[in-house]
Parts: sequence; C-alpha cells; structure tokens
Amino acid sequence: MVSDIEVSQSVQPEKIQDIAAKIGISQEQLEVYGTDKAKIALHKFDHLPRKGKLILVTAITPTPAGEGKTTVGIGLDDALNLIGKKSIVAIREPSVGPVFGIKGGAAGGGHSQVIPMEDINLHFTGDLHAIGIANNLLAALIDNHIYQGNELDIDVKNITWKRSLDMNDRQLRLFVGGLGNHASGIPHEDGFDITAASEIMATLCLATDLLDLKERLAKIVIGYSRKGEPVTAGQLKAEGAMAAVLKDAIKPNIVQTLAHNPAFVHGGPFANIAHGCSSLIGTDLALKLGDYVVTEAGFGADLGAEKFLDIVAPRLGKTPDAVVLVATVRALKMHGGLNKKELNEENLDALKNGLPNLLRHVHNMHEVYGLPTVVAINKYPTDTQAELDLVREECQRLGINAIEADVWGQGGAGATELAQEVVKLADMPADFTAIYDKEDPIQDKIEKVATKIYGADGITVAGPAKKSIKKLEHLGYGNLPICIAKTQYSFSANKNSLGAPKGFKVPVKEIKVNAGAGFIVVSTGSVMTMPGLPKAPAAEKIDVTADGKITGLF
Ligand code: ADP
Ligand code: MG
Repeated sequence: MVSDIEVSQSVQPEKIQDIAAKIGISQEQLEVYGTDKAKIALHKFDHLPRKGKLILVTAITPTPAGEGKTTVGIGLDDALNLIGKKSIVAIREPSVGPVFGIKGGAAGGGHSQVIPMEDINLHFTGDLHAIGIANNLLAALIDNHIYQGNELDIDVKNITWKRSLDMNDRQLRLFVGGLGNHASGIPHEDGFDITAASEIMATLCLATDLLDLKERLAKIVIGYSRKGEPVTAGQLKAEGAMAAVLKDAIKPNIVQTLAHNPAFVHGGPFANIAHGCSSLIGTDLALKLGDYVVTEAGFGADLGAEKFLDIVAPRLGKTPDAVVLVATVRALKMHGGLNKKELNEENLDALKNGLPNLLRHVHNMHEVYGLPTVVAINKYPTDTQAELDLVREECQRLGINAIEADVWGQGGAGATELAQEVVKLADMPADFTAIYDKEDPIQDKIEKVATKIYGADGITVAGPAKKSIKKLEHLGYGNLPICIAKTQYSFSANKNSLGAPKGFKVPVKEIKVNAGAGFIVVSTGSVMTMPGLPKAPAAEKIDVTADGKITGLF
C-alpha cells in the first residue's frame, strides 16, 4: 500500500503565490516561507466583509478504527472546488511531539492531504515554537518575580502556570525546579505540558487580532497570592513581550491541498482542556476570501463541535451554515461491540448496535442545535453494500442524508455528491439554538451540556470543585463559557462505555479558569497534557536523505 507521505510526495506543489492568487491574495499580502508555504498579512484584510458559508466537520465518538475528519474535510474542500465553488479549508496545525510517537499524521490522508505534509508536520512556520517561547517567558517571569522579592506575594504552592515544550516527553511531566544554591531560584513543584495544551495556544486561537491577543494574555491567571487572590500575567507586565514573540504566529498559514486548492492551517489547541479548533483569525479570513469555508472540530461532536458552537461561534459571531458528521462503518461496528481485529467482515448486528452513537450525535447537531446536517460515511474498502445501506436507512429515519465519501482513495472526485448536499444544506435556513446562556450559573452550564449533549442524567460535583465554582463566580469569571475536559472515547466520562450510553452522571472533579483564552475548564477525570512515547516510537522509522528528502513519516 502506498503511504500518505508517498502520495503526498508524488504531487509537486504549485508556487504558493499562485495558490494565494486563486482567492485574491496578492504578493504584498503574503509573507512567503520557502516556495510552498506562506503567512498572510492579516491587517491588510480588515476592510473586507465576510461572504462565505461556514461548514463544520465533526464526527462520531472516536475509536481506534479511525474516523477521518481531517481527511474528509480536505476532500470535501477539493470536491467543492471541483463543482465550481470557491472553497477554503481551515484546519489545525500539527504539533511536532506526537509525530514521533504513534503513527498517524494531522495533514489528512491518502488523496486528501495538505502539502508539503513533511513541513506541516515538522516545525512548519514555527508557530508552535513561538507559542512555547511565550509560555516559557511567562514561567520565567513568575519565578524571577518570586526570586527578586515576590512583591505580589505569589504563593509558591499555588502556581498554576506550567512550562511547555512541543515534545512527547513524560520525563518532564512533574518535577521539582529551582534546586541548588540560593542563586538558582526558589524550589517548587513544576511540570511541562506539551505546547498544544498551553493556554497560550487556546488564547491565540480565540484572539481576533494582535491587540486583542495582548489584552487576553494580560488576563491569564498564573496562580494565586497567599491571600488567595488571582495573580495575572498583566501584573507581571508580561503581555507586551509575550505578544511580541507571537506577532508572526498569529498570522494564518496558507498551503495547498493535493488538488492545489488553498488551505489555511493555523493553530492547534487540545479538544478537551481547550476548544480544539483552528484559529478564529484563520476562519474569519477564510470567510472573507472564500464562498465556502470547511473547518474541523476535534474529537467527536460531543467535545469539538459543542466547543465550536458554544465557545468559538459566539466569538466569531457566526454559527455554521451546515454540519458534516463523519462516521465510518468500521468505527460504528466497534461501538457495537466488535474489537479491531473483527472489522473486516460484514456484521450487520454489530453495526446496528453501534449506530445509536451516530444517531445521538446527529440528533444533537440537528435537533438540539438546529443546524442543517449531513452524515459523511468515510469509505473503507471493507464496507459492504448492506452495511452502507443500513447506515443510510437509519439516518433517513431522522430526516438526514448519509452520503458515502471516498476522498482517501479518490480525493475531491470521491465526494462530489457530498459537496452538492453541503451546498444545498448551507442555503437552507438554520435555526440555531445555543444550549446555555453565558449568564447561567457555572453549574447549570455544565449540567446543560451533560444532559442535552452527552445524554447524562445529571452531574455530580466534588467538594473542591464546588468551592472553585463559588470562588470563580465571586471573582467575576462566572459568565465565561465552559470547556469540559472529558474522555473523547465515550459520551460519558467512562472511556469504556461505547455506543450511546444511558443512565449515567458526569462527575465534575476540578474547575479552573483560563481567563486569557476566556473559558472555564471543567475536568471530569484526569487529562494527559504531556504525552509520552510508545514502546516503538514512530521516530525510529523517520529518516532523511542527503538532499533533505524526508522518509518514513506516516
Ligand atoms: P481525524 O481528523 O478524525 O483525527 P484523520 O483524517 O487525521 O482523522 O485520519 C486518521 C488516519 O486515518 C489518517 O492516517 C488517514 O490516512 C487514515 N484514514 C482516514 N480515512 C481513511 C480511509 N477512508 N481509508 C483508509 N485510511 C483512512
Ligand atoms: Mg483531525
């Protein structure tokens, strides 16, 4: 089988200036990195009105069988262009660390990829690096402030800001820093998060421009004083230098799909402790330059799409015109009880058992939020006609079309029917209903997401979380949207509970404010924010030739 990198390297990228020109971006509005990557000079588009329709790509609850949101999103974008629509795909940029871990890229797959995939997966235009530097500048300023006399009376036992690095390195998860003599700082427990999990990443992805970013950075809560008052980055006078470091990282990156259509690849926050969507700035710009904008929300629709709709959309001032819910027959069979080895055979019973997972997500997008929705069946060679028919029939009962897309095998040509349906849906009137009001008490907001989206009976709030809720409401953070960190593998907080579980409560364990990003993080269990490497890391297979050609990357 041809690997993703082989497919990608078989296509010669066109000059990025030519790609940009297709959506009306001139040479003066581009900052070119090499020949096939560029950043876009944002402020030169301030005067333009938005014209595009927004298409949100989301999915069923993830399984190890794979869903393929990015692959379908890129393929749908190529398909929209193929049927004559000016479409731009706006997706997250990969983090470097995971590239060396478990096989699997973040630039799409098969014949639906963005290129140059090697560069996009490794360093790209340096955004992750800049975000890590801004994050660590703040960490250094905090410790230096304490070392230099601690005028703000920061409680060293209550510093919530961590260091960050774009590497899967479990060794750095938790340590004691500042050991040694007096000149080597104040000893305290510390730790690293992977850069994509930094609040700086979430903040950059939700900022509307550089000044807005600076204001948000100033609001970041780095910990508490010994009196229990929040201490902010602004009190440490950190926001100016942090924003300076981020002046280029905030500009959207433009690359191309394998079919030479423009693609924005910018920002990549986690989808549990953060909102999991590419930058608001990139999406906004794409809406000004394209007639259709295809964007992706991380994980399943209960996590990524919910966050897009309740956190991003109000900031963007626009809700999606249509939702594409990606499912695979294989993953649905896993939801129906099969294990990964049993997926190659037709099994209608297992599929029937797994379908409620898809149908609950469909119900959420279509009935709860009121958005025009289509199911995209990301096609695998093992799918049988009877299985595809069953998915279609079950969706039809909810008034939803399920359309096969073979973008992995054929690129845009494999999704023209899906593209036609998307165009049709995006022209229909949407009747969007938010599921909570930002003025609702924090606990009510959590309860509304848990019951209306997850299908829970309710929530249970642990004692410390109750105290935090009270404190955050008292401090004036009560009207921020909530960002629930829950396992991506289940509607419930139990990762083994597949399908469409019922009769469960969602445990609320910890509450934290990310005042820079502008949301309250609600933890329902422990979330890994610094991954490790597996026993056989993908790094062992990655290589480079004398002339710089990368091999073995996916
Ligand atoms: P997501 O965005 O949902 O995490 P991706 O689109 O990144 O998923 O796909 C995950 C992996 O699955 C990629 O390596 C991709 O090549 C592969 N993949 C996606 N769709 C298909 C398909 N239809 N057939 C085979 N492999 C696929
Ligand atoms: Mg993806």
